Amino acid sequence: MRIITTTCPECGTVVAANELESNRVMKCPGFGCEHVHRFSELPVEAQEHFLENKDRYEI
Ligand SMILES: [Zn+2]
Repeated sequence: MRIITTTCPECGTVVAANELESNRVMKCPGFGCEHVHRFSELPVEAQEHFLENKDRYEI
């Protein structure tokens, strides 16, 4: 399974995009960071990958 990550623009924390895909919106796990990550902010290429392989990510 391909792991896609995204990097917080505010604190630089690397966020696993597959968690983002299941929740759609998640608060940044970075300490003290209030940035909210949204699935729609992922690169289009990454969003398409998830939509095409959605069944593989649902266990
Ligand atoms: Zn952050």
